Amino acid sequence: MELNILTVCYLIASVTFILGLKMLSNPASARTGNLVAAAGMTIAIAGTIFLYEEDGQRLHNYAWIFSGIAIGGIVGTFAAKKVKMTAMPEMVSMFNGMGGACAALISLIEFGHIHDMSAEPTGKLFIIFAGLIIGSVSFAGSMVAWGKLNGSVKDHSFNGQHIVNLLLFFASVAVAAWITIALPANAHMMVYAVLALALLYGVFFVLPIGGADMPVVISLLNSFTGVAAAFGGFLYDNKVMLTGGILVGAAGTLLTILMCKAMNRSLANVLIGSFGGGATATAGGAKAQGSVREISLSDASVLMSYAHRVYIVPGYGLAVAQAQHVCHELEKLLESKGVEVKYAIHPVAGRMPGHMNVLLAEADVPYEKLMEMEQANDEFPNTDVVLILGANDVVNPAAKTDPSSPIYGMPILDVELAKNVIVNKRSMKPGYAGIENELFFSKKTSMLFGDAKKVLQDLVSEIKNL
Ligand code: NDP
Repeated sequence: MELNILTVCYLIASVTFILGLKMLSNPASARTGNLVAAAGMTIAIAGTIFLYEEDGQRLHNYAWIFSGIAIGGIVGTFAAKKVKMTAMPEMVSMFNGMGGACAALISLIEFGHIHDMSAEPTGKLFIIFAGLIIGSVSFAGSMVAWGKLNGSVKDHSFNGQHIVNLLLFFASVAVAAWITIALPANAHMMVYAVLALALLYGVFFVLPIGGADMPVVISLLNSFTGVAAAFGGFLYDNKVMLTGGILVGAAGTLLTILMCKAMNRSLANVLIGSFGGGATATAGGAKAQGSVREISLSDASVLMSYAHRVYIVPGYGLAVAQAQHVCHELEKLLESKGVEVKYAIHPVAGRMPGHMNVLLAEADVPYEKLMEMEQANDEFPNTDVVLILGANDVVNPAAKTDPSSPIYGMPILDVELAKNVIVNKRSMKPGYAGIENELFFSKKTSMLFGDAKKVLQDLVSEIKNL
């Protein structure tokens, strides 16, 4: 009877995961979707703790279970409450890595429980090793990605790195296969060799990838964690773990494909070509061409106030400055003067997939005002002013004109098609890909230097006084 209730708990949880995921696809329902899925997860966890039975035995190690939940819950809550919006991508990477580590640990522990390997079905050993390898790669790769996103790890590659990577990967698979087939006496030691090789592969896999390719890698690692968790579901014959893992794996894979499309690259090219990798990241790109033109706050205010249509291009700098609320204020002010204001959203603007959508939704910018790249590019020729706020790589023409550039091939926002371009940033420093931007030297472009929040506040008061 109780097992049936547990099955119902798992069914409810699985349905909430699917509903939650669906709701996450729209900013208006995303918050509720997150809560719905979290409620389902709570039901699944509580059901497992209190209702799961094996050979007529309930779980009994409650002290361990609740200590783990309390420590993880407290650390997670504080981390999530304290994290700055700009550090969200790092935190997502860290949490993703923890998921991979959990999957790998489950495999290690379950392998340790095996006393007579010859009595175990080969399928079970396969599942254990799949979870161990994929989980370890996801953990190690996510930790490197976390370091790269917070600037503590630099891109690094060496000649023949792809060969070394392939060797590491195949070596981990080969040792796992050998243990499964030959059932050696020292299998419980050999399993650590699989772990070490997979961890090393995870590190070397992400280390050379940088520049503009990180979004693809992050979503790929996310899908790895999902797949590793799904193997955990197979291992325990736990339907909700399986469903959750498959959903994360599938969603991560779809996001990876979408990100690749946004960057105009194939996945193989991202992984093997190490596009934007360290050595080339600073070498490519435009060279400084002459001097830049600056615009005063009052001239910028007049230009925008008398425009017919203004497009705002938000970028990472807007998130750093936490200027989304005052940006929305500027938008409303201009609209009250009869100016049409829209936002052009590049798929990899910011530091995580959907970063700009989340940022602007936080400031209650209506979703209809957010235009996707293709649509914005179509409308730029009929736009009087493009105001770029802390964006750089996503508007860099080198992506179209300079084959030696690390971002060559990435579709960009063609802001130069508009009549005037105003760029707000603090200095002439490059963006994430580490390259110069010839847009800043274009005849159509004027620079409005300063912190995005301060500049926007000043623009708002200037326009109010016009
Ligand atoms: P960029 O990183 O290219 O540029 C951001 C610009 O913001 C910088 O040039 C910086 O210039 C400026 N800036 C920083 N702080 C402020 C501030 N307080 N006020 C005003 N300006 C500021 O950002 P983009 O959004 O254009 O491009 C995103 C990049 O990140 C792409 O290369 C993308 O591939 C990569 N990436 C994206 C991920 C994703 O999932 N979206 C994940 C990982 C990487 P200055 O210092 O002079 O102010």
